[in-house]
Amino acid sequence: MPRRSSVTILGATGTIGKQTLDVIARHPERFNVFALTANSRAEELHAQCLQFKPRYAVVLEESGAERLKASLARAGSDTEVLCGLPALEYVSAHADVDVVMAAIVGAAGLKPSLAAARAGKRILLANKETLVMSGKLFMQAVEEGGATLLPIDSEHNAIFQVMPEKPSKDLAASGIRKILLTASGGPFRKADATELARVTPEQALNHPNWVMGPKITIDSATLMNKGLEVIEAHWLFNATPEQIEVVVHPQSVIHSMVEYIDGSVLAQLGNPDMRTPIAYALGHPDRLESGVASLDLFRIARFDFEAPDTGRFPCLRLAFDSLRMGGTAPAIMNAANEIAVNAFLDRKIGFTEIPAMIESVMNLLPSRPADTLETVIEADREARQLANHWILDR
Ligand code: NAD
Ligand code: MG
Repeated sequence: MPRRSSVTILGATGTIGKQTLDVIARHPERFNVFALTANSRAEELHAQCLQFKPRYAVVLEESGAERLKASLARAGSDTEVLCGLPALEYVSAHADVDVVMAAIVGAAGLKPSLAAARAGKRILLANKETLVMSGKLFMQAVEEGGATLLPIDSEHNAIFQVMPEKPSKDLAASGIRKILLTASGGPFRKADATELARVTPEQALNHPNWVMGPKITIDSATLMNKGLEVIEAHWLFNATPEQIEVVVHPQSVIHSMVEYIDGSVLAQLGNPDMRTPIAYALGHPDRLESGVASLDLFRIARFDFEAPDTGRFPCLRLAFDSLRMGGTAPAIMNAANEIAVNAFLDRKIGFTEIPAMIESVMNLLPSRPADTLETVIEADREARQLANHWILDR
């Protein structure tokens, strides 16, 4: 019997983190949990520690760490509690870790993901913002560190599954014409401009097909999520913007497709449940039971397809623009988007002001070569500052 894989879950209390633990709990003979990390929800992390008995638990703030330490000690747990960003990097790069699930949301995930890449881990990448901000540096770190990268985002996981096993660096040389990235279209697929301007956070948080954290749910409603995924696909599969086509498919059953030069289109299908890509990446090349129900095609009955409307959803256009600009442009866009999403959730700006604000920040900040981590982090900081000014000045 092979040794069990030792897994660190960054963002264990989030939607992806919890679904990862759900899959791991089904396979105690294959996996043990090395570390669990969370931003704040210490009570939830406490319960996870008692169930999965990790060697380490990491929270960001000192006060949270003290509370967790005390509660775990009372419960007789052996889990050691650490705190802060260096601890996140420590449990991502530790010699005893085999697999790192990178499921922190937003730019905060960048440094721990990079640490896992440099340390040559098997990285299950949910945190798409890492690739958007610093795709070039991250892919370099994966290569130099000898890491294995497996995409968790359902679309990229689907593409990975229908790609040739050992794709050449150049998609065309692998016989691939284009990648068809599917999108649900979000809750406002049919809304007109007037309705969009009046969208509330409650309406935007109500995604038709997927249950996800608040940030990605808003990104799905603006189509920024698809924009971030275009950039993610660029880095993961070495695809040019012209080789990536976004297809709105409201049923969210086809998770993405690859078209080959002979006219074949290969797709991966399944229920919209993230435990499928998580189980695929945890088990690869083996297939693991994930708890996902069998796909009922008779109930679904039909598949629809339409082109995305970048007039009503400019975020998708902005993402393509930033990818074509290259350098720090995607990091600038990503940072402005994070501020915009939080401001929208806090009711400081309206739904249609999200793209307006991002575009304004992108126009103000020039793109620079994204060759060092410092340049990327500086671009992120400047963009956040400008975005916050935009909110105050408008
Ligand atoms: P979530 O909001 O549910 O969870 C986020 C996790 O990150 C939590 O554990 C939180 O404690 C932690 N966290 C937040 N801020 C942090 C910080 N500053 N430092 C350290 N930890 C922090 O988010 P989610 O929906 O699970 O998404 C996680 C990532 O996976 C995102 O990048 C998202 O785009 C990606 N993703 C999610 C889904 C999905 O179905 N939920 C699908 C595809 C990709
Ligand atoms: Mg996705």
